[in-house]
Amino acid sequence: MKRSDDLKNLLYAINRKGYPAYKDTRGQYQFPGFVLSIDHVQGDPFASPSKVSIIIEGKQAGFPLAYLQKPWTRIALQDDLTRRFGQEIEKYNFKAKGSGKSGLISVSRCGQEVLERTCCALQPDTGKLTVRLEVGFPANGRTINSSELIKIFFEFLPRAAQASLLYKSLNHQEIEDVIHLAEDQHFIREALPAMGLCAFVADGAILPRRSGVSQLPMKNAVPFRSPDSLRVTMELPHRGPVTGMGIPRGITLIVGGGYHGKSTLLKALELGVYNHIRNDGREYVITDDSALKIRAEDGRCIHHTDVSLFINNLPGGADTRVFTTEDASGSTSQAANVAEGLEAGTSLFLIDEDTSATNFMIRDELMQEVISRDKEPITPFIERVRPLYQKAGVSSVIVAGSSGAYFYIADLVIQMDCYQPFDITALAKEKAAAYTPVSSLPMSESALDFRRVPEPLPAIARDPRVKLKVMGRETVSINREQIDLRGLEQLADQEQTEALAYMTLYALRRLIDGKRSLPAVADQLMKLVQEKGLEAVAMENGWLPAGLAMPRKQELMGFLNRFRSLKIRS
Ligand code: ADP
Ligand code: MG
Repeated sequence: MKRSDDLKNLLYAINRKGYPAYKDTRGQYQFPGFVLSIDHVQGDPFASPSKVSIIIEGKQAGFPLAYLQKPWTRIALQDDLTRRFGQEIEKYNFKAKGSGKSGLISVSRCGQEVLERTCCALQPDTGKLTVRLEVGFPANGRTINSSELIKIFFEFLPRAAQASLLYKSLNHQEIEDVIHLAEDQHFIREALPAMGLCAFVADGAILPRRSGVSQLPMKNAVPFRSPDSLRVTMELPHRGPVTGMGIPRGITLIVGGGYHGKSTLLKALELGVYNHIRNDGREYVITDDSALKIRAEDGRCIHHTDVSLFINNLPGGADTRVFTTEDASGSTSQAANVAEGLEAGTSLFLIDEDTSATNFMIRDELMQEVISRDKEPITPFIERVRPLYQKAGVSSVIVAGSSGAYFYIADLVIQMDCYQPFDITALAKEKAAAYTPVSSLPMSESALDFRRVPEPLPAIARDPRVKLKVMGRETVSINREQIDLRGLEQLADQEQTEALAYMTLYALRRLIDGKRSLPAVADQLMKLVQEKGLEAVAMENGWLPAGLAMPRKQELMGFLNRFRSLKIRS
């Protein structure tokens, strides 16, 4: 391997040359204590920055191998190191000068969730640490200014790495706390099924966020406090006993006046599929990790989805077992989201009235009398939620502040009152007894168990230069076709969206053959990235085009379902 001096000499030699001369720096260089790998060099100072990695041998990095054996502790440590390194290099960001992106130094920005990211990887067997970052190679105009790059490589990066990537320079207690939190969170997740629960919300948790644009915990919020009847104790391996509200499997209704904290509780449950960092307030809010938020999403496309649980006898006579549209309505989109959630193997639906189609959720008695059944294609969710639990084992947590109709079929009714939950099940059932209960139409069980097959899309699969563009967390374009992901509310991070785009491309090229079912494609892809890392789907050029974060299978299938050109058949 070349030495750092070789790099320095090369950089001196190309100073003041045209920008493309930077390309010669590609390669790996042994620095004192780490290897600097220049993986991809940008074409000009205004282009997307160059890709660089810092590789530190296990002995040198020094992290206890015991921390790396379980994926959840390894991921928590990687996440913590990404944040620490990010803080360190921020001190040097744009401290080297020049035009365009000259001097930029950046790594993945982590939010409140702890995700596996390509930015930072620890090898479980050796402890070898790889950190990937972006560096804007400095230039004045298009003339190389290599003395500025020498500052970055020979001063800034070594200092930042020294301060944040070596076990010996870190506070061991703080690192151990990160590992212990991950173990405690994992313990709760594993304990849920045996306790018959689909979610746990600890006493003292802070659920609301600071604002619509900040995911930090709200200051002076009312801490969560479980109703006595629902309080369970989790005996955590490190923190010891933690009490909180256990939400049992079955059908749970969250009611209460407007602005009393219903949606805030549901949102916390939605994101409880991920672990959260220390001081987030939701560290011990843990949800069944297959949970799926279901909402109305008018305008989305639907390909051969069996929505016959909810939609039948449409005016045009369309077969709703293979429902297809380029422009779904509120109710049909929500029906498709439920059906596709079943196809994805979820065991918990999370539904908020704020984002639901009313006619999908209920049909009141008076309306049933005036508009006869055969004139109404929609069987509302209220008539299906019980059989979904009994026949398919899928629980639901539903926020419904405006209709008491769900009282009949709920197993548990929680009232949010001034941000505090109360168990009002008995009262709600007593009041409901005076009204006639909802009746349901019979349903075909095939609608609970369907698997569609995506068809090959050669125009993209065979295109060697597919144009992928990720515009924030909610929009991707593939060869100019926009894929709208606003309906996937549990996507936590733009890097997950990036990963989904690359996974989709990989699936189109290698897995979608017109025979494999959609869930089989998704399972195979998730297995691949979990075993080999996200690099496995995005390293075609020898370098990672962007920082990627691990998505869930639910969002992967959600992405494929919203990709209009991808035809999926029953
Ligand atoms: P709902 O869905 O019942 O109408 P929301 O969950 O939207 O109510 O909450 C209404 C407002 O109250 C939001 O601005 C939210 O941030 C705030 N809020 C929610 N929970 C708490 C809490 N525990 N402490 C303080 N404010 C809260
Ligand atoms: Mg609300």
